[in-house]
Amino acid sequence: MSAVAVIGSGPNGLAAAAVAARAGLDVTVYEANDTLGGAARTQPLGGSAARFDLGSAVHPMALQSPAMRELGVLDAVDFIIPELSFAHVLDDRTAYAWRDLERTAQDLGAGGALYSRLLSPLVQRMDELGDTLLNPLLKVPSHPVTLAAFGASTLGGMGLKDLFSSKHERAAALYAGCSAHVAGGSRGPANAGAGLFLAAAAHAKGWPIPRGGSQAISDALAEQVKARGGRLRTGQRVTSLGQLPEDIVLFDTSAEMAGQIAGNRLPSKLSKALAATRRSPGSCLVHYVLSEPVPWKDPVLAQAGTVHLGGTAAQVGRAEREAKHRAPGKPFMIVSQPSVFDGSRAPHGRQVLWAYCHVPLGSPADMSGQIRSMIEAAAPGFSELIIESHVVTAQGLEAQNAALVGGDLSGGTMDLLGSIRRPVISTDPWYLGSKGLYLVSSAVPPGPSVHGMGGFLGAKSMLKREFGITWEDSM
Ligand SMILES: Cc1cc2nc3c(=O)[nH]c(=O)nc-3n(C[C@H](O)[C@H](O)[C@H](O)COP(=O)(O)OP(=O)(O)OC[C@H]3O[C@@H](n4cnc5c(N)ncnc54)[C@H](O)[C@@H]3O)c2cc1C
Repeated sequence: MSAVAVIGSGPNGLAAAAVAARAGLDVTVYEANDTLGGAARTQPLGGSAARFDLGSAVHPMALQSPAMRELGVLDAVDFIIPELSFAHVLDDRTAYAWRDLERTAQDLGAGGALYSRLLSPLVQRMDELGDTLLNPLLKVPSHPVTLAAFGASTLGGMGLKDLFSSKHERAAALYAGCSAHVAGGSRGPANAGAGLFLAAAAHAKGWPIPRGGSQAISDALAEQVKARGGRLRTGQRVTSLGQLPEDIVLFDTSAEMAGQIAGNRLPSKLSKALAATRRSPGSCLVHYVLSEPVPWKDPVLAQAGTVHLGGTAAQVGRAEREAKHRAPGKPFMIVSQPSVFDGSRAPHGRQVLWAYCHVPLGSPADMSGQIRSMIEAAAPGFSELIIESHVVTAQGLEAQNAALVGGDLSGGTMDLLGSIRRPVISTDPWYLGSKGLYLVSSAVPPGPSVHGMGGFLGAKSMLKREFGITWEDSM
Protein backbone atom coordinates (compact mmCIF):
# COMPACT_ATOMS: atom_id res chain seq x y z
CA MET A 1 0.00 0.00 0.00
CA SER A 2 1.35 3.47 -0.87
CA ALA A 3 1.99 5.73 2.09
CA VAL A 4 0.80 9.33 2.36
CA ALA A 5 1.75 11.95 4.96
CA VAL A 6 -0.50 14.91 5.69
CA ILE A 7 1.22 17.76 7.54
CA GLY A 8 -1.39 19.62 9.61
CA SER A 9 -4.82 18.61 10.87
CA GLY A 10 -6.99 21.62 10.03
CA PRO A 11 -10.25 20.89 8.18
CA ASN A 12 -8.37 20.82 4.87
CA GLY A 13 -5.69 18.43 6.14
CA LEU A 14 -8.29 16.10 7.64
CA ALA A 15 -10.45 16.21 4.49
CA ALA A 16 -7.38 15.34 2.38
CA ALA A 17 -6.48 12.50 4.74
CA ALA A 18 -10.06 11.16 4.62
CA VAL A 19 -10.03 11.12 0.80
CA ALA A 20 -6.65 9.36 0.69
CA ALA A 21 -7.69 6.83 3.36
CA ARG A 22 -10.93 6.06 1.50
CA ALA A 23 -8.87 5.35 -1.60
CA GLY A 24 -7.08 2.64 0.38
CA LEU A 25 -3.82 4.53 0.95
CA ASP A 26 -1.84 4.23 4.17
CA VAL A 27 -2.30 7.70 5.68
CA THR A 28 -0.61 9.42 8.63
CA VAL A 29 -1.50 12.94 9.74
CA TYR A 30 1.28 14.84 11.56
CA GLU A 31 -0.02 17.73 13.67
CA ALA A 32 2.28 20.14 15.54
CA ASN A 33 -0.27 20.91 18.26
CA ASP A 34 -1.44 18.52 20.96
CA THR A 35 -5.01 18.64 19.63
CA LEU A 36 -6.52 18.11 16.19
CA GLY A 37 -8.45 20.65 14.13
CA GLY A 38 -6.19 23.65 13.42
CA ALA A 39 -8.34 26.78 13.31
CA ALA A 40 -11.48 24.62 13.76
CA ARG A 41 -10.82 23.60 17.38
CA THR A 42 -12.87 24.03 20.55
CA GLN A 43 -11.18 23.68 23.90
CA PRO A 44 -10.78 25.14 27.38
CA LEU A 45 -8.31 28.00 27.83
CA GLY A 46 -6.41 29.05 30.93
CA GLY A 47 -8.01 26.50 33.28
CA SER A 48 -11.56 27.55 32.37
CA ALA A 49 -14.42 25.02 32.41
CA ALA A 50 -15.89 26.67 29.29
CA ARG A 51 -14.96 25.49 25.80
CA PHE A 52 -13.86 28.19 23.36
CA ASP A 53 -13.68 28.11 19.57
CA LEU A 54 -10.02 28.99 19.02
CA GLY A 55 -10.81 29.93 15.42
CA SER A 56 -13.97 29.36 13.42
CA ALA A 57 -17.36 29.51 15.16
CA VAL A 58 -20.01 29.99 12.45
CA HIS A 59 -19.95 27.91 9.28
CA PRO A 60 -21.97 29.08 6.26
CA MET A 61 -19.45 27.53 3.86
CA ALA A 62 -19.61 24.10 5.52
CA LEU A 63 -23.28 23.67 4.56
CA GLN A 64 -22.46 24.50 0.95
CA SER A 65 -19.39 22.30 0.70
CA PRO A 66 -19.29 19.19 -1.49
CA ALA A 67 -16.40 17.94 0.70
CA MET A 68 -18.47 18.17 3.89
CA ARG A 69 -21.38 16.48 2.13
CA GLU A 70 -19.42 13.67 0.52
CA LEU A 71 -17.28 12.99 3.60
CA GLY A 72 -20.37 12.61 5.77
CA VAL A 73 -19.78 15.67 7.99
CA LEU A 74 -23.19 17.15 7.27
CA ASP A 75 -24.79 13.94 8.62
CA ALA A 76 -22.47 13.51 11.59
CA VAL A 77 -22.61 17.06 12.99
CA ASP A 78 -25.66 18.68 14.58
CA PHE A 79 -25.72 22.13 12.99
CA ILE A 80 -27.85 24.64 14.90
CA ILE A 81 -29.24 27.26 12.53
CA PRO A 82 -30.42 30.50 14.17
CA GLU A 83 -33.44 32.15 12.55
CA LEU A 84 -31.55 35.43 12.79
CA SER A 85 -28.40 34.60 10.84
CA PHE A 86 -26.63 37.84 11.73
CA ALA A 87 -27.39 41.43 12.67
CA HIS A 88 -25.53 44.71 12.18
CA VAL A 89 -25.71 47.29 14.98
CA LEU A 90 -26.10 50.93 13.93
CA ASP A 91 -26.53 53.97 16.17
CA ASP A 92 -30.21 54.42 15.46
CA ARG A 93 -31.56 50.99 14.42
CA THR A 94 -30.22 47.49 13.99
CA ALA A 95 -30.29 45.80 10.59
CA TYR A 96 -31.38 42.14 10.77
CA ALA A 97 -30.50 39.37 8.31
CA TRP A 98 -33.21 36.80 8.97
CA ARG A 99 -33.12 33.39 7.30
CA ASP A 100 -36.29 34.58 5.58
CA LEU A 101 -35.26 37.05 2.86
CA GLU A 102 -38.72 38.63 2.61
CA ARG A 103 -38.89 39.29 6.34
CA THR A 104 -35.42 40.84 6.08
CA ALA A 105 -36.51 43.05 3.19
CA GLN A 106 -39.62 44.20 5.06
CA ASP A 107 -37.61 45.07 8.19
CA LEU A 108 -35.12 47.05 6.10
CA GLY A 109 -37.79 49.46 4.87
CA ALA A 110 -36.62 51.65 1.98
CA GLY A 111 -33.56 49.56 1.03
CA GLY A 112 -35.39 46.26 1.40
CA ALA A 113 -36.64 45.91 -2.17
CA LEU A 114 -33.19 46.55 -3.60
CA TYR A 115 -31.54 44.18 -1.11
CA SER A 116 -34.02 41.48 -1.98
CA ARG A 117 -33.66 42.04 -5.75
CA LEU A 118 -29.89 41.75 -5.45
CA LEU A 119 -29.86 38.58 -3.36
CA SER A 120 -32.95 36.70 -4.41
CA PRO A 121 -31.46 35.13 -7.62
CA LEU A 122 -28.43 34.00 -5.64
CA VAL A 123 -30.48 32.61 -2.74
CA GLN A 124 -32.59 30.60 -5.20
CA ARG A 125 -29.48 29.09 -6.78
CA MET A 126 -27.38 28.70 -3.65
CA ASP A 127 -26.49 25.03 -4.17
CA GLU A 128 -25.27 25.67 -7.71
CA LEU A 129 -23.46 28.79 -6.56
CA GLY A 130 -21.73 26.93 -3.72
CA ASP A 131 -20.64 24.12 -6.07
CA THR A 132 -19.31 26.64 -8.58
CA LEU A 133 -17.45 28.97 -6.20
CA LEU A 134 -15.97 26.22 -4.05
CA ASN A 135 -14.47 24.63 -7.14
CA PRO A 136 -11.49 26.18 -8.91
CA LEU A 137 -12.21 29.18 -11.08
CA LEU A 138 -9.89 28.04 -13.88
CA LYS A 139 -12.15 25.38 -15.32
CA VAL A 140 -15.35 25.29 -17.30
CA PRO A 141 -18.03 26.16 -14.72
CA SER A 142 -20.65 23.46 -14.09
CA HIS A 143 -23.38 26.12 -13.67
CA PRO A 144 -22.55 28.93 -16.13
CA VAL A 145 -25.90 30.73 -15.78
CA THR A 146 -25.59 30.90 -12.01
CA LEU A 147 -22.00 32.08 -12.29
CA ALA A 148 -23.06 34.77 -14.75
CA ALA A 149 -25.83 35.96 -12.38
CA PHE A 150 -23.33 36.05 -9.54
CA GLY A 151 -20.81 37.93 -11.68
CA ALA A 152 -23.45 40.49 -12.65
CA SER A 153 -24.37 41.09 -9.00
CA THR A 154 -20.74 41.22 -7.97
CA LEU A 155 -19.84 43.82 -10.53
CA GLY A 156 -22.69 46.03 -9.46
CA GLY A 157 -24.83 45.49 -12.53
CA MET A 158 -27.84 44.57 -10.40
CA GLY A 159 -27.68 47.38 -7.91
CA LEU A 160 -24.72 47.02 -5.57
CA LYS A 161 -23.78 50.62 -6.24
CA ASP A 162 -27.34 51.80 -5.57
CA LEU A 163 -27.32 49.94 -2.28
CA PHE A 164 -24.62 52.31 -1.10
CA SER A 165 -26.63 55.44 -1.81
CA SER A 166 -27.26 57.24 1.48
CA LYS A 167 -30.94 56.23 1.48
CA HIS A 168 -30.25 52.59 2.21
CA GLU A 169 -27.93 52.72 5.19
CA ARG A 170 -29.13 49.57 6.96
CA ALA A 171 -29.21 47.39 3.84
CA ALA A 172 -25.75 48.63 2.85
CA ALA A 173 -24.44 47.87 6.36
CA LEU A 174 -25.68 44.26 6.16
CA TYR A 175 -23.80 43.73 2.93
CA ALA A 176 -20.69 45.69 4.02
CA GLY A 177 -20.38 43.62 7.21
CA CYS A 178 -20.36 40.41 5.14
CA SER A 179 -17.79 41.70 2.70
CA ALA A 180 -15.57 42.84 5.61
CA HIS A 181 -15.17 39.22 6.68
CA VAL A 182 -12.43 39.34 4.03
CA ALA A 183 -9.83 41.60 5.68
CA GLY A 184 -8.37 44.61 3.95
CA GLY A 185 -11.42 46.65 2.89
CA SER A 186 -10.76 46.28 -0.83
CA ARG A 187 -13.51 47.65 -3.07
CA GLY A 188 -12.67 45.01 -5.67
CA PRO A 189 -14.77 42.11 -6.94
CA ALA A 190 -13.30 39.53 -4.55
CA ASN A 191 -14.58 41.38 -1.45
CA ALA A 192 -17.84 42.15 -3.23
CA GLY A 193 -18.23 38.48 -4.19
CA ALA A 194 -17.49 37.26 -0.66
CA GLY A 195 -20.01 39.73 0.74
CA LEU A 196 -22.73 38.63 -1.65
CA PHE A 197 -22.03 34.95 -1.11
CA LEU A 198 -22.14 35.25 2.71
CA ALA A 199 -25.27 37.41 2.63
CA ALA A 200 -27.00 34.99 0.23
CA ALA A 201 -25.98 32.03 2.42
CA ALA A 202 -27.62 33.76 5.41
CA HIS A 203 -30.95 33.71 3.57
CA ALA A 204 -30.57 30.30 1.92
CA LYS A 205 -29.47 27.71 4.50
CA GLY A 206 -28.45 30.10 7.27
CA TRP A 207 -25.22 30.51 9.22
CA PRO A 208 -24.87 27.28 11.20
CA ILE A 209 -23.25 26.76 14.61
CA PRO A 210 -22.10 23.17 15.21
CA ARG A 211 -23.32 21.79 18.55
CA GLY A 212 -20.17 21.39 20.66
CA GLY A 213 -18.29 24.01 18.63
CA SER A 214 -16.17 23.86 15.49
CA GLN A 215 -14.31 20.88 17.00
CA ALA A 216 -17.36 18.78 16.07
CA ILE A 217 -16.50 19.30 12.39
CA SER A 218 -12.85 18.38 12.89
CA ASP A 219 -13.78 15.35 14.99
CA ALA A 220 -16.20 14.12 12.30
CA LEU A 221 -13.44 14.36 9.68
CA ALA A 222 -10.91 12.68 12.00
CA GLU A 223 -13.36 9.80 12.51
CA GLN A 224 -13.46 9.28 8.74
CA VAL A 225 -9.66 9.01 8.69
CA LYS A 226 -9.52 6.60 11.62
CA ALA A 227 -12.37 4.45 10.28
CA ARG A 228 -10.25 3.69 7.19
CA GLY A 229 -7.15 2.85 9.20
CA GLY A 230 -5.48 6.28 9.03
CA ARG A 231 -3.22 7.41 11.89
CA LEU A 232 -3.43 10.79 13.62
CA ARG A 233 -0.23 11.89 15.34
CA THR A 234 -0.39 15.03 17.47
CA GLY A 235 2.58 16.93 18.96
CA GLN A 236 4.60 16.28 15.77
CA ARG A 237 5.92 19.45 14.15
CA VAL A 238 7.43 18.70 10.74
CA THR A 239 10.39 20.82 9.69
CA SER A 240 11.86 18.78 6.82
CA LEU A 241 10.83 16.04 4.45
CA GLY A 242 13.67 13.94 5.88
CA GLN A 243 11.55 13.37 9.01
CA LEU A 244 8.86 11.57 7.05
CA PRO A 245 9.01 7.98 5.77
CA GLU A 246 6.20 8.64 3.24
CA ASP A 247 6.86 9.45 -0.45
CA ILE A 248 3.67 11.41 -0.92
CA VAL A 249 3.22 14.52 1.23
CA LEU A 250 0.16 16.77 1.43
CA PHE A 251 0.82 20.12 3.15
CA ASP A 252 -2.03 21.58 5.20
CA THR A 253 0.31 24.40 6.16
CA SER A 254 0.99 27.97 5.12
CA ALA A 255 2.44 28.34 1.63
CA GLU A 256 5.69 29.66 3.13
CA MET A 257 5.99 26.66 5.48
CA ALA A 258 5.39 24.20 2.61
CA GLY A 259 8.23 25.90 0.70
CA GLN A 260 10.58 25.69 3.68
CA ILE A 261 9.83 22.02 4.40
CA ALA A 262 10.01 20.90 0.77
CA GLY A 263 13.22 22.91 0.23
CA ASN A 264 15.12 22.11 -2.95
CA ARG A 265 12.60 19.48 -4.05
CA LEU A 266 10.54 22.36 -5.48
CA PRO A 267 11.10 24.12 -8.82
CA SER A 268 12.76 27.44 -8.01
CA LYS A 269 9.98 29.55 -9.57
CA LEU A 270 7.38 27.90 -7.34
CA SER A 271 9.67 28.16 -4.31
CA LYS A 272 9.87 31.91 -4.87
CA ALA A 273 6.09 32.20 -5.30
CA LEU A 274 5.49 30.38 -1.98
CA ALA A 275 8.00 32.57 -0.12
CA ALA A 276 6.44 35.73 -1.60
CA THR A 277 2.83 34.95 -0.57
CA ARG A 278 0.88 38.22 -0.29
CA ARG A 279 -0.80 38.54 3.09
CA SER A 280 -4.00 40.09 4.44
CA PRO A 281 -4.10 42.01 7.73
CA GLY A 282 -4.12 39.95 10.92
CA SER A 283 -6.82 39.65 13.58
CA CYS A 284 -7.01 40.15 17.34
CA LEU A 285 -9.50 37.89 19.11
CA VAL A 286 -11.01 38.04 22.60
CA HIS A 287 -12.74 35.08 24.26
CA TYR A 288 -15.14 35.86 27.12
CA VAL A 289 -16.98 33.87 29.77
CA LEU A 290 -20.00 35.83 30.96
CA SER A 291 -22.25 35.27 33.96
CA GLU A 292 -25.33 35.99 31.82
CA PRO A 293 -26.26 36.55 28.17
CA VAL A 294 -25.18 39.90 26.71
CA PRO A 295 -27.65 42.62 27.79
CA TRP A 296 -28.09 44.03 24.26
CA LYS A 297 -29.95 47.35 24.16
CA ASP A 298 -31.88 45.86 21.26
CA PRO A 299 -33.30 42.62 22.75
CA VAL A 300 -33.73 41.06 19.27
CA LEU A 301 -29.94 40.69 19.15
CA ALA A 302 -30.23 37.85 21.67
CA GLN A 303 -31.53 35.73 18.76
CA ALA A 304 -28.54 36.41 16.47
CA GLY A 305 -25.81 33.81 15.99
CA THR A 306 -23.46 36.57 14.84
CA VAL A 307 -23.47 40.31 15.52
CA HIS A 308 -21.52 42.87 13.48
CA LEU A 309 -20.42 46.15 15.12
CA GLY A 310 -18.57 49.07 13.57
CA GLY A 311 -21.10 51.57 12.25
CA THR A 312 -22.23 52.37 8.74
CA ALA A 313 -20.98 50.75 5.55
CA ALA A 314 -18.66 53.71 4.98
CA GLN A 315 -17.25 53.46 8.53
CA VAL A 316 -16.74 49.71 8.14
CA GLY A 317 -14.83 50.24 4.88
CA ARG A 318 -12.64 52.94 6.47
CA ALA A 319 -11.84 50.80 9.53
CA GLU A 320 -10.90 47.86 7.31
CA ARG A 321 -8.57 49.97 5.18
CA GLU A 322 -7.05 51.51 8.34
CA ALA A 323 -6.37 48.01 9.75
CA LYS A 324 -3.82 47.45 6.99
CA HIS A 325 -1.56 50.11 8.56
CA ARG A 326 -2.51 50.57 12.23
CA ALA A 327 -4.83 49.23 14.90
CA PRO A 328 -8.15 50.98 14.09
CA GLY A 329 -9.62 53.32 16.70
CA LYS A 330 -13.14 52.09 15.95
CA PRO A 331 -12.72 48.69 14.29
CA PHE A 332 -15.26 46.58 12.46
CA MET A 333 -15.99 43.65 14.78
CA ILE A 334 -17.51 40.21 14.42
CA VAL A 335 -19.13 38.79 17.57
CA SER A 336 -20.26 35.17 17.93
CA GLN A 337 -22.51 34.09 20.83
CA PRO A 338 -22.81 30.28 20.45
CA SER A 339 -23.86 29.36 23.99
CA VAL A 340 -27.17 31.19 23.52
CA PHE A 341 -28.00 28.26 21.20
CA ASP A 342 -25.83 25.50 22.69
CA GLY A 343 -25.90 25.16 26.49
CA SER A 344 -23.09 22.56 26.42
CA ARG A 345 -20.50 25.23 25.73
CA ALA A 346 -20.41 26.98 29.14
CA PRO A 347 -21.58 25.16 32.27
CA HIS A 348 -23.75 26.58 35.10
CA GLY A 349 -25.79 28.91 32.91
CA ARG A 350 -22.74 30.89 31.89
CA GLN A 351 -22.11 32.15 28.36
CA VAL A 352 -19.13 32.12 26.01
CA LEU A 353 -18.63 34.85 23.46
CA TRP A 354 -15.86 35.54 20.98
CA ALA A 355 -15.18 38.80 19.21
CA TYR A 356 -12.46 39.80 16.79
CA CYS A 357 -11.34 42.65 14.60
CA HIS A 358 -8.67 43.15 11.98
CA VAL A 359 -5.28 44.69 12.80
CA PRO A 360 -2.03 45.00 10.83
CA LEU A 361 -0.31 41.75 9.87
CA GLY A 362 1.76 40.39 12.76
CA SER A 363 0.60 43.15 15.11
CA PRO A 364 1.08 42.71 18.88
CA ALA A 365 -1.88 45.10 19.45
CA ASP A 366 -4.25 44.06 22.23
CA MET A 367 -7.68 45.27 21.05
CA SER A 368 -9.60 44.09 24.13
CA GLY A 369 -10.19 47.70 25.27
CA GLN A 370 -11.84 48.77 22.02
CA ILE A 371 -13.75 45.49 21.70
CA ARG A 372 -15.11 45.72 25.23
CA SER A 373 -16.14 49.36 24.96
CA MET A 374 -17.87 48.84 21.61
CA ILE A 375 -19.88 45.90 22.98
CA GLU A 376 -20.59 47.94 26.14
CA ALA A 377 -22.01 50.77 24.00
CA ALA A 378 -24.42 48.33 22.33
CA ALA A 379 -25.07 46.42 25.57
CA PRO A 380 -24.73 48.60 28.68
CA GLY A 381 -23.70 46.47 31.68
CA PHE A 382 -21.72 43.98 29.51
CA SER A 383 -18.44 44.66 31.35
CA GLU A 384 -19.97 43.75 34.72
CA LEU A 385 -20.86 40.27 33.42
CA ILE A 386 -17.31 39.34 32.40
CA ILE A 387 -15.99 36.46 34.51
CA GLU A 388 -13.01 35.66 32.26
CA SER A 389 -11.43 37.13 29.16
CA HIS A 390 -8.56 35.74 27.09
CA VAL A 391 -6.94 37.96 24.45
CA VAL A 392 -5.19 36.40 21.46
CA THR A 393 -3.28 38.99 19.42
CA ALA A 394 -2.39 38.54 15.75
CA GLN A 395 1.05 37.36 16.92
CA GLY A 396 -0.65 35.03 19.41
CA LEU A 397 -2.75 33.44 16.66
CA GLU A 398 0.40 32.44 14.80
CA ALA A 399 1.87 31.04 18.03
CA GLN A 400 -1.31 28.92 18.42
CA ASN A 401 -1.23 27.73 14.81
CA ALA A 402 1.75 28.20 12.50
CA ALA A 403 -0.54 28.30 9.45
CA LEU A 404 -1.93 31.67 10.63
CA VAL A 405 1.09 33.70 9.49
CA GLY A 406 1.01 37.10 11.22
CA GLY A 407 -2.56 36.35 12.34
CA ASP A 408 -3.82 36.31 8.71
CA LEU A 409 -6.92 34.06 8.79
CA SER A 410 -7.14 33.69 5.04
CA GLY A 411 -3.98 31.82 4.01
CA GLY A 412 -2.95 34.81 1.87
CA THR A 413 -4.71 37.83 0.40
CA MET A 414 -8.16 37.07 -1.05
CA ASP A 415 -8.37 39.93 -3.55
CA LEU A 416 -9.06 39.03 -7.17
CA LEU A 417 -5.42 38.23 -7.96
CA GLY A 418 -4.96 36.38 -4.67
CA SER A 419 -7.96 34.17 -5.30
CA ILE A 420 -6.73 33.15 -8.75
CA ARG A 421 -2.95 33.07 -8.17
CA ARG A 422 -3.01 30.71 -5.20
CA PRO A 423 -0.04 30.06 -5.07
CA VAL A 424 0.32 30.13 -8.89
CA ILE A 425 -2.13 30.43 -11.75
CA SER A 426 -2.72 26.82 -12.78
CA THR A 427 -5.46 24.34 -13.58
CA ASP A 428 -3.88 22.11 -10.91
CA PRO A 429 -2.81 24.64 -8.25
CA TRP A 430 -2.46 21.95 -5.53
CA TYR A 431 0.46 20.17 -7.25
CA LEU A 432 3.81 21.60 -6.14
CA GLY A 433 5.62 20.75 -9.34
CA SER A 434 7.56 17.86 -7.80
CA LYS A 435 6.47 14.23 -7.67
CA GLY A 436 4.40 13.43 -4.59
CA LEU A 437 4.15 16.98 -3.16
CA TYR A 438 0.82 18.85 -2.85
CA LEU A 439 -0.39 21.97 -1.04
CA VAL A 440 -3.92 21.41 0.30
CA SER A 441 -4.55 24.16 2.86
CA SER A 442 -6.45 27.46 2.66
CA ALA A 443 -3.40 28.74 0.75
CA VAL A 444 -4.82 27.04 -2.37
CA PRO A 445 -8.22 27.40 -4.08
CA PRO A 446 -10.89 27.86 -3.01
CA GLY A 447 -9.20 29.63 -0.07
CA PRO A 448 -10.21 30.26 3.55
CA SER A 449 -13.21 29.10 5.62
CA VAL A 450 -14.19 25.76 7.00
CA HIS A 451 -15.29 23.87 3.89
CA GLY A 452 -12.46 21.34 3.54
CA MET A 453 -12.37 21.93 -0.22
CA GLY A 454 -8.64 22.71 -0.47
CA GLY A 455 -7.95 19.29 1.05
CA PHE A 456 -10.69 17.51 -0.88
CA LEU A 457 -9.60 18.86 -4.27
CA GLY A 458 -5.87 18.60 -3.48
CA ALA A 459 -6.20 14.93 -2.49
CA LYS A 460 -8.25 14.24 -5.64
CA SER A 461 -5.49 15.83 -7.70
CA MET A 462 -2.97 13.57 -5.93
CA LEU A 463 -5.05 10.42 -6.60
CA LYS A 464 -5.27 11.24 -10.28
CA ARG A 465 -1.66 12.30 -10.84
CA GLU A 466 0.06 9.67 -8.70
CA PHE A 467 -2.28 6.68 -9.23
CA GLY A 468 -4.44 7.52 -12.22
CA ILE A 469 -7.64 7.08 -10.21
CA THR A 470 -10.53 9.40 -9.59
CA TRP A 471 -12.41 9.96 -6.35
CA GLU A 472 -15.42 8.25 -7.89
CA ASP A 473 -13.26 5.16 -8.74
CA SER A 474 -12.13 4.99 -5.15
CA MET A 475 -15.63 4.93 -3.61
C1 LIG B 1 -9.89 33.52 14.77
C2 LIG B 1 -10.45 32.83 13.54
C3 LIG B 1 -11.81 32.90 13.27
C4 LIG B 1 -12.33 32.26 12.15
N1 LIG B 1 -13.68 32.25 11.96
C5 LIG B 1 -14.20 31.49 10.98
C6 LIG B 1 -15.60 31.25 10.94
O1 LIG B 1 -16.36 31.69 11.84
N2 LIG B 1 -16.08 30.48 9.93
C7 LIG B 1 -15.25 29.91 8.99
O2 LIG B 1 -15.73 29.21 8.09
N3 LIG B 1 -13.92 30.10 9.03
C8 LIG B 1 -13.38 30.85 10.01
N4 LIG B 1 -12.01 30.98 10.12
C9 LIG B 1 -11.15 30.45 9.05
C10 LIG B 1 -11.00 28.94 9.11
O3 LIG B 1 -10.87 28.50 10.44
C11 LIG B 1 -9.79 28.53 8.26
O4 LIG B 1 -9.94 29.05 6.95
C12 LIG B 1 -9.65 27.01 8.18
O5 LIG B 1 -9.48 26.44 9.46
C13 LIG B 1 -8.44 26.66 7.31
O6 LIG B 1 -8.24 25.28 7.36
P1 LIG B 1 -6.83 24.62 7.02
O7 LIG B 1 -6.99 23.18 7.21
O8 LIG B 1 -6.36 25.14 5.72
O9 LIG B 1 -5.79 25.24 8.09
P2 LIG B 1 -5.81 25.31 9.66
O10 LIG B 1 -7.17 25.08 10.19
O11 LIG B 1 -5.15 26.59 10.01
O12 LIG B 1 -4.89 24.08 10.12
C14 LIG B 1 -3.52 24.02 9.83
C15 LIG B 1 -2.91 23.00 10.79
O13 LIG B 1 -1.59 22.71 10.36
C16 LIG B 1 -0.78 22.60 11.52
N5 LIG B 1 0.61 22.83 11.10
C17 LIG B 1 1.09 23.94 10.49
N6 LIG B 1 2.41 23.80 10.24
C18 LIG B 1 2.75 22.55 10.69
C19 LIG B 1 3.97 21.80 10.69
N7 LIG B 1 5.11 22.30 10.20
N8 LIG B 1 3.97 20.54 11.22
C20 LIG B 1 2.82 20.01 11.70
N9 LIG B 1 1.64 20.68 11.74
C21 LIG B 1 1.61 21.93 11.22
C22 LIG B 1 -1.31 23.66 12.45
O14 LIG B 1 -0.93 23.43 13.79
C23 LIG B 1 -2.81 23.51 12.22
O15 LIG B 1 -3.36 22.54 13.09
C24 LIG B 1 -11.46 31.57 11.26
C25 LIG B 1 -10.10 31.50 11.54
C26 LIG B 1 -9.59 32.07 12.69
C27 LIG B 1 -8.14 31.91 13.03
